[in-house]
Amino acid sequence: MKKLYNYIDGELVAPINGNYIDNYNPATGQVYSQIPNSDEADVSNAIKSARNAFESWSNLRNSERASWLEKISNRIEERMEELALAESIDNGKPLWLAKSVDIPRARDNFKFFATAIMHFASESHRTSSGIINYTLRKPIGVAACISPWNLPLYLFSWKIAPALAAGNTVVAKPSEITPMTAYLLSEICNEINLPKGVLNIVHGLGASTGNAIVTHDDIDMVSFTGGTTTGEHIARTIAPKFKKMSLELGGKNPNIIFDDCDFDKALKTTLNSSFANQGQICLCGSRILVQRGIYNKFRDAFVSKVKDIKVGNPMDDNSRMGAIVSKPHFDKVLSYVEIAKSEGGKVLTGGHQVQLEGDNSDGWFIAPTIIEGLDQQCRTNQEEIFGPVVTIQPFDTEEEAVEMANCTGYGLAATVWTQDLNTAHRMSENIKSGIVWVNCWLLRDLRTPFGGVKNSGVGREGGWEALKFFTEAKNVCIKFD
Ligand code: NDP
Repeated sequence: MKKLYNYIDGELVAPINGNYIDNYNPATGQVYSQIPNSDEADVSNAIKSARNAFESWSNLRNSERASWLEKISNRIEERMEELALAESIDNGKPLWLAKSVDIPRARDNFKFFATAIMHFASESHRTSSGIINYTLRKPIGVAACISPWNLPLYLFSWKIAPALAAGNTVVAKPSEITPMTAYLLSEICNEINLPKGVLNIVHGLGASTGNAIVTHDDIDMVSFTGGTTTGEHIARTIAPKFKKMSLELGGKNPNIIFDDCDFDKALKTTLNSSFANQGQICLCGSRILVQRGIYNKFRDAFVSKVKDIKVGNPMDDNSRMGAIVSKPHFDKVLSYVEIAKSEGGKVLTGGHQVQLEGDNSDGWFIAPTIIEGLDQQCRTNQEEIFGPVVTIQPFDTEEEAVEMANCTGYGLAATVWTQDLNTAHRMSENIKSGIVWVNCWLLRDLRTPFGGVKNSGVGREGGWEALKFFTEAKNVCIKFD
C-alpha cells in the first residue's frame, strides 16, 4: 500500500508519531493509500523551516521567485497525465475532467502568478510640492494555506502560487480526503530543488493538523477555502491573534433564467453548472429559477437531458459524472434528498444511488437529481448540499427573481440568462454575491477578483487582490525642501 510523506524542510518525511490515515478511492470504495496523520510536532517543524527560509526567499528579486514558479509550472505540464490520473482516482471525478480542467489550471496558477509578480506595483501619492507618499508592499512571513477536496490541486495551487510569488513562505495542508496531487507537488518541488523550507506540505486531519497550523503563533496569515462552518471556527479561533485572514466559503448559488434567454444555450450550460464535478464546485448553481413563461418547457427539456447523463467509472471517457468524493459526503447528499421529500419536494429525476458493476460496485455514485415544488425558505434551498442535487422553481417578475436570489445566507455566485441588456445590468447590480455570470458560467480570467459576500466568505483571491492579500502595505511619507 502506497504511503505518502509530508514535505518539510525540503525533505519527504514520515510523520513523527508514525500514525497514518486511510485514503479511499471513491469509485471503488476501497482504501488505496495511506497519508500521514501529522500532529503538532510535524506542524511545528514545518513552520520552523518556513520561518528559517523566509528571509532569503523574501529577499530574492521578483524575477528569481518567478523563475522558481515557472519551473514548478513546467514540471506540472510534464507530469500532466500522471497528475490527472492521480486526481481522478483520489477524488472520483472523471479523468477527462482532471485532464482538461484541474491539472491545466494548477499549471496555469503557477505560470500566472510568476508573471503577475513581475507587473505588480505599488502606489505613490503626491500631496503637494515637497510632500510625497509612497506605499511599500512587503511580504508578510509564513502563510498557512488550507484547501478543500473538490478541486484539489487547482485550489491548493491557487493559494500557494500567489503566496510564494509575493515572497512569503508557506505551510500548506490539502484536504485529508484528496491528498495525492499535493503529495506529487511536493515531489515536483524536490525534483526542481526548490530551496528548502519555502513550501512545506503537511498532511492530516482538519481538526487536528489543520487546527495546529492555523493557530500556531508563528503563522502570520491564513488563506482558507472550505465550508462556512469550518471558516467560522477558524475565524473565531484566530481573530484574537490578529492574523491576516482570507476565507473562501460555501455557496447556494441561484441560476436565474428569464423568458427571453437563448433557450438552447441556457439549457446546455445549466446542465454543466448543475452537475459538473458531480455538483461539487462551490460555483455550481443549485437553485434554478425559471421565469413562468418558459418554466414548463425548460423544466421538461432539462429533465429529459439530465436523464441522459451517464454516471460511471471515472476512467471511462463516456462518463459525464463520476463518484461522490467520500462515503460521509455520499450519505450527506442522499440525506438531503430525504429532507427535500419531507419538505414536500417532488423528485423529477434521480434522487438515488447509482449501482455500478465490477470494480465500481462499492463506489459512491449518485444520479443527477432535480427537485421541484419547494419554496426558497426550506432547508433544501437554504443549506449547501454540494452534490448533484438541484431544485427548480418558477418566478414571475424581475423583483421576485432578485428576492429569491438573495434570500439565503450565502452570496458566492449567480448566473443570469437574458437577452435584455438592461435586465442583465440591473440583475448584476442587485444580486448580493461576489460573482455574477451573464449568459455563461465558469468562464474564468485569473486577473478578476474571486470570492463571496455574507456567509460565503471574507476577502478576495485572484490577480492583484491575491498579491495584495499576501503583502502588507506600509505608507512612507517624505517631506523635502
Ligand atoms: P471543510 O471546511 O471541511 O475543509 C476544508 C479544509 O479545511 C480541509 O483541508 C480540512 O481538512 C481543513 N480543516 C477542517 N477543519 C479545520 C480546522 N479546524 N482548522 C484548519 N483546517 C481545517 O470543507 P470541505 O473540504 O468539505 O470542502 C467543501 C466546502 O468548500 C464547501 O462548503 C464548498 O462550498 C467550499 N468551497 C468553497 C470555495 C470558494 O472558493 N468559496 C471553492 C471550493 C469549495 P480535512 O479535509 O482534512 O478535514
